[in-house]
Amino acid sequence: MARSETSPAHDDDRQLLTILEGRPCPTCSDGELERGVYKDKRAVVCDSCETPRVQLWTPS
Ligand SMILES: [Zn+2]
Repeated sequence: MARSETSPAHDDDRQLLTILEGRPCPTCSDGELERGVYKDKRAVVCDSCETPRVQLWTPS
């Protein structure tokens, strides 16, 4: 296991956002995915059409 500086509990969420961030939007031709908030949840949304690509939430 590699040494981690970050909290393991939140590392997966952050990594998922990082993986998706910067990718071309699958919905429109000229959008790019960026980190944002969708319906008060962390998400990756298109900067052009604002389509959320993924939503992350903590179970309550
Ligand atoms: Zn788009």
